[in-house]
Amino acid sequence: MDSTVMKPGGAAQAFLSRAKRFLIGGEFVESISGKTFEVVDPSTGNALARVCEADHRDVDAAVAAARRAFDTGPWPRMKPAERQALIWKIGELIDRHAQELAEIEALDNGKPVTIARVVDVAYSAEMFRYMSGWATKLGGRTIPLSAPGDYLSYTLREPVGVVGHIVPWNFPLLLAAWKLAPALAAGCTMVLKSAEQTPLSALRLAELIQEAGLPPGVVNIISGFGETAGAAMCAHDGIDKIAFTGSTEVGKLIVKAAAGNLKRLSLELGGKSPMVVFPDVDVAQVVPGAAGAIFFNQGEVCSAGSRLYAHRSVFDKVVEGVAEIASKIKLGSSLNPATEMGPLVSEEQRARVMGYIEKGRKEGAAVVTGGNAPNGLGYFVQPTVLAGTHKDMTVVREEIFGPVLCAERFDDDDLDRIAAMANNTPYGLAASIWTRDISIAHKLATRIRAGSVWINCHNALDAALPFGGFKQSGWGREMGEEVFHAYTEVKAVTAAL
Ligand code: ADP
Ligand code: MG
Repeated sequence: MDSTVMKPGGAAQAFLSRAKRFLIGGEFVESISGKTFEVVDPSTGNALARVCEADHRDVDAAVAAARRAFDTGPWPRMKPAERQALIWKIGELIDRHAQELAEIEALDNGKPVTIARVVDVAYSAEMFRYMSGWATKLGGRTIPLSAPGDYLSYTLREPVGVVGHIVPWNFPLLLAAWKLAPALAAGCTMVLKSAEQTPLSALRLAELIQEAGLPPGVVNIISGFGETAGAAMCAHDGIDKIAFTGSTEVGKLIVKAAAGNLKRLSLELGGKSPMVVFPDVDVAQVVPGAAGAIFFNQGEVCSAGSRLYAHRSVFDKVVEGVAEIASKIKLGSSLNPATEMGPLVSEEQRARVMGYIEKGRKEGAAVVTGGNAPNGLGYFVQPTVLAGTHKDMTVVREEIFGPVLCAERFDDDDLDRIAAMANNTPYGLAASIWTRDISIAHKLATRIRAGSVWINCHNALDAALPFGGFKQSGWGREMGEEVFHAYTEVKAVTAAL
């Protein structure tokens, strides 16, 4: 544990000392109530900034601005190539301010600044660039009819309308990009609410979106709490669709809240993703892969490889290898370039994760490495490997959302039984298969009930690849071409000739 605390660069410091207001209707405005809330640096527990706090009246104002921009503004009517150019520009501006954004993200979330730079910021810029290209490529098709008579039938893909985006705290900027970029390409207008733990990067992005020159009201960005501002968005009749990433528990609340005007929903929820390791693997390749799958981003990843099933013949070597990596990961404050793992996002999250580790111990899991929260400042948890876990333990059934791996041995060569073991969860977000046998890999890939299956890798994401969950991991897909199912309505036009 390296407790060196560093200062952000000049650009990030300047942002931190500016007023942090909402972007509504093309203007930076304060909350109607005048209320603000504190943002904390999880590396130290110290206050970092104050931001405006939205309540239902600010949500009304933001929705009204988005509604005007959709119903009468230029954005949905603009030539696709003009929309493409503006979306591309947001990506360029993100790249131009990459180090500043990485520092803001690291300070706010706790993740290492080096990771924020090459993952969060780089992939956010890429998401805007990739999605900008779809603005000019979305279209319908012509459909031959069998009904008697002569007809010309074709479909149109039209924007779904005003979208409410609600994002979590684990990848604040990146998940905002996942939502804003395709909705913009589709011609929607929108209101985005960041997570109360991590509102900062979305506010800096709001400034960049203004700089890019989008028409007023197309993107509105507010900060506030889930139970107030988030709930007001989900119940709002002026919103046509909610795109949500967060917990399965809140996803279910949103389904109920959205019933009033039957708004469309896409939900990217929790996961408990298995990694299945076969006896033929090259252990030296699997070990860093599996360690990365669970410890990347402090384990605060919905698709983290949190259940490791390794065949009995390789189990000990794989678990020892992962534990050795875990014990050497450099914990430290987020701005220190030597840090490999930062603190968890909040004191509450650390307490949750430590509670799970405690339950794991009580229910009979063996702590191979880690298991403690280091003394001192910040919300740190040691990377932890639990072995001897089994399907009935809380740590195996529930999403921990922290750096905790559950490792279990299997002794079977029946693919249906192996698939049943991997599928024994209410979630279905992702899975990885580790083997050199291509038949086993592809046969098991079809049997796993999850939205992403990785072979000899984990968390391989790309703007072009659809991502989302089966079962209680959610509804719909983000990224790739598939995301446009979420942001467009299909209209069938038929002319009798
Ligand atoms: P976590 O519990 O890990 O913080 P949540 O699912 O609670 O994850 O939070 C994800 C996002 O959902 C955040 O932006 C949060 O403000 C928002 N949120 C929480 N509760 C609600 C709710 N009842 N309605 C709408 N949004 C909510
Ligand atoms: Mg919550």
